[in-house]
Amino acid sequence: MDYDAWFRAAVQRVRAEGRYRVFANLAREVGAYPRARMRTAAGPRDVVIWCSNDYLGMGHHSAVLDAGCAALRAHGAGAGGTRNISGTTHLHVRLERALAELHGKPAALLMSSGYVANEAAISTIARLLPDCLILSDANNHASMIAGIRASGCEKQIFRHNDPAHLERLLAAQPASRAKLVAFEGVYSMDGDFGRAAEICTIARRHGALTYLDEVHAVGMYGPQGGGIAERDGLTDQVDVVQGTLGKALGAAGGYVAGPAAMIDALRSHAPGFIFTTSLPPATVAAALAAVEILRGPEGQALRARHQERAASLKSRLQGAGLPVIPSPSHIVPLLVGDPVRCRLLSDLLLERHGIYVQPINYPTVPRGTERLRLTPSPLHDDRLMDQLVAALVEVWQQLDLPERGSAWPSGGEPAHCLDRTVEGRLGIVDDAQHRLAGPGSIAGGDAVIDPGMQGKALLGRDQRAALQAEAHRQHRVDDRA
Ligand code: PLP
Repeated sequence: MDYDAWFRAAVQRVRAEGRYRVFANLAREVGAYPRARMRTAAGPRDVVIWCSNDYLGMGHHSAVLDAGCAALRAHGAGAGGTRNISGTTHLHVRLERALAELHGKPAALLMSSGYVANEAAISTIARLLPDCLILSDANNHASMIAGIRASGCEKQIFRHNDPAHLERLLAAQPASRAKLVAFEGVYSMDGDFGRAAEICTIARRHGALTYLDEVHAVGMYGPQGGGIAERDGLTDQVDVVQGTLGKALGAAGGYVAGPAAMIDALRSHAPGFIFTTSLPPATVAAALAAVEILRGPEGQALRARHQERAASLKSRLQGAGLPVIPSPSHIVPLLVGDPVRCRLLSDLLLERHGIYVQPINYPTVPRGTERLRLTPSPLHDDRLMDQLVAALVEVWQQLDLPERGSAWPSGGEPAHCLDRTVEGRLGIVDDAQHRLAGPGSIAGGDAVIDPGMQGKALLGRDQRAALQAEAHRQHRVDDRA
């Protein structure tokens, strides 16, 4: 068998859609962020980063670095084992205690990443309950979807941020059945908030557990940086909080916080926790320092500055007539609506203006909603923002991108939001369909750009209705999977 041919064909399918991924070879430099050095074939150059998830710059905070360096010197580069086999230090124990406290929960458990935390926790929680039904927001992250798949449990998908739909699905179930409602605090690609209060109320009414992914909210919302649940006074309402150490906390790793019995069960039943080397002590120490800083007055000041910077960037972009997707959070998405021009836009910003912002394409977002996702930090000043907006306006015109001043489709939900099958989100559909077409062919299934979507950044009502109908059909198929 020509194995390489299959892999080349898989890459070719991605290239054909204009969504081949090119990684920027970047070195952030402590003290210079958001500026960084980038290595290119022509030599190194300075760039400004506009798409980092080190939202508050904590990855370069001096106290965080000191804590990490001290732990590295004191305890070495790696943990040396799984948590059970010599991989638990006092730093791990302290960080778990701090995270439990941050979220107002009795216990917390560290994992290798936020992705692993979702995959391991959702699959294990649901598997340990009898005949558990998982109800998942249509826009949930791929890691939650992976957890749902791995559980092997029945699932139902409720329309994005639609508590009434969730309530209908729950009401159709026996009161005695185990149910887990999974959703997010901040949806990272559109920047909208989950409707946590309503979802929790409904879940309680129907005896369901709630599982909240706070990955894009930890450190950034709530008086102590506890996330959306803390901000909205819902700490007692949410049963399980999942988070990351890799975004606002500036390090790497993930965790879940929740009831003591559940966390204890995860320690002994979650393969994604048990069978892997625990986080390095330096990483744990750095994250612990970040949590402590963000819980105090410095954290409050950083959060206020962060929100101000995001609002300022949105209004500058809107003032320049660029199609900002309305977002109430710190995430500033700019709609392009075409994978090829989205890539080109990103390339030109980098080459001509030294501005680094990755294109966001399918499967991270649905086709037709390709975008730039800007993440201003407290360190992005007015001058950098003015440079960004001027560069965007220039390149936008050159590429003849969708009419400036256009708005995100009004009248409810963005059209793309329902294109959320498990397979679609994970990009698995392509591979399954391609298997039928055979290697070398790019004609099968998703390998060609959906002509109905290409270039249609802003969809009309009919197109939205057609897409929604298709998405519902896919969900039904998905539900049977
Ligand atoms: N959950 C959400 C909503 C995310 O956006 C991400 C990553 O971007 C994750 C989980 C995974 O977190 P991590 O990057 O720590 O693996």
